[in-house]
Amino acid sequence: MKALHSHNDFYERVVRATPGGDLLDTCLQCGTCGGSCPSGADMDHTPRALFAMIMAGMEDEVLSSNTPWFCVSCYACTTRCPQQIPITDLMYTLKEMAIQAGRYEHPHAAKFSETFVGFVEERGRSFELGLATRYHLFHHPQNMVRLGMMGMGMMRRGRLALRPKSIRNIGQLRAILEAAKTIAAEEQPL
Ligand code: SF4
Ligand code: SF4
Repeated sequence: MKALHSHNDFYERVVRATPGGDLLDTCLQCGTCGGSCPSGADMDHTPRALFAMIMAGMEDEVLSSNTPWFCVSCYACTTRCPQQIPITDLMYTLKEMAIQAGRYEHPHAAKFSETFVGFVEERGRSFELGLATRYHLFHHPQNMVRLGMMGMGMMRRGRLALRPKSIRNIGQLRAILEAAKTIAAEEQPL
């Protein structure tokens, strides 16, 4: 596809590090991604805004944004993007670049991300009640009463599971994750 925008070095590195990343050039700035995102309220920038900043070569601002760290990899944006841009994978690339550039500046956002990854490694899937409880208990204990009341309301409506469930063959997933960590450790910096 013909390039729609002139590109900068930062854009090129982001695209090269992301499978299917060249589709970023086709972003329509429609905002569907941000409108689909469950973490949007906590993000410094919507995915749409972050992509415009990448196009503009705003490397420091992008790598300092908390947005990738609040991404919980739900793929809602990716499945709804009219241009099939791999938004979730781009968030992974930006997290990796931020770590390598020493811009791991959002302890709460990073902890949120680590809490999510912890559940996936343990159970093979996210567990919303545990994710919120574990994250806020350790990092925002003052929020627990408000969250507890909200959680009770969601449970009454059957919108929140009380117990985490593991996927079948969790052992296979753990082996895959271990292999992925080994490959990642051997990869060259971006
Ligand atoms: S949904 Fe896709 S095309 Fe629309 S702003 Fe987001 S990334 Fe761009
Ligand atoms: S994958 Fe990340 S950026 Fe996309 S909707 Fe989910 S949380 Fe938001």
